[in-house]
Amino acid sequence: MRVAVLSGKGGTGKTFVSVNLAAATRNAVYIDCDVEEPNGRLFLKPTHTNESPVYTLIPEFDAAKCTGCRKCVEFCRYNALVFVREKPMVFSEVCHSCGGCALLCPKDAVSEKPHSVGAVEEGTAGSVRVVTGIMNTGEVSAVPVIKAALRAGAGVEELTVIDCPPGSGCPVMESVMNADYCILVTEPTAFGFHNFQMVHKLVTLLGKPCGVVVNKTEEAYAPLEEFCAAHRTPILLRIPYRENLAKLGAAGQIAAEQDEETASLFRDLLTAVQKEAAR
Ligand code: SF4
Ligand code: SF4
Repeated sequence: MRVAVLSGKGGTGKTFVSVNLAAATRNAVYIDCDVEEPNGRLFLKPTHTNESPVYTLIPEFDAAKCTGCRKCVEFCRYNALVFVREKPMVFSEVCHSCGGCALLCPKDAVSEKPHSVGAVEEGTAGSVRVVTGIMNTGEVSAVPVIKAALRAGAGVEELTVIDCPPGSGCPVMESVMNADYCILVTEPTAFGFHNFQMVHKLVTLLGKPCGVVVNKTEEAYAPLEEFCAAHRTPILLRIPYRENLAKLGAAGQIAAEQDEETASLFRDLLTAVQKEAAR
């Protein structure tokens, strides 16, 4: 079963939920798709790590063969090509590596060269396989690294936990595309609720079943409760605001491994997700 964990904004507790859920399950793979700032490994501390580079293909132009017909520039829907001194020039940051310009060039003047965009690190932490996507600083698109991390994470484990990037843009869509169920992590505040509604809309548009984890709960936040009731979205877990959880997080420790009460909360969360997903 593949479970994607999302939140509308950073700092909500998405990684906290993801790593604890993975750690509380006997047979899990944790995939960090928050490739701009992957920090699940800081908690899981995987060993026996192995890193593989991730490349995209960027066009390269042979000036001797190019006749300057401009067909490639007119074709590129991403405006990654411009015409300078009668020759095409590529902006690799916005190229989507679709390969179209190489395919259509009538003079066979375009070849493709690998461009490094990041890496995928694989390791183990106890019974959890840990896969981390790491995007190079300065790259624009997270999607190629996310795709590579998801490919590396495919396996036979009972549970796949996908720690998604924050927000509701293309990298999040890519991360949840093959998920069986989505957990939306939020906080009981006006800001948290605003961002929660955006990810809720996204997963609804994608046709994914979802449930909610409310983190740092002190008391129920009425607009969130009413929204979930109106949309028949179950609240799967309310994590109380507890000082010891904050301290364990600050020390880079996984609460489910240190505290039986927290481990039990996350085992119950998995049971609730399995039940909801089977509906
Ligand atoms: S399509 Fe080929 S020949 Fe035409 S401008 Fe582009 S690279 Fe040059
Ligand atoms: S590979 Fe695709 S996106 Fe990149 S420059 Fe060529 S046509 Fe544009």
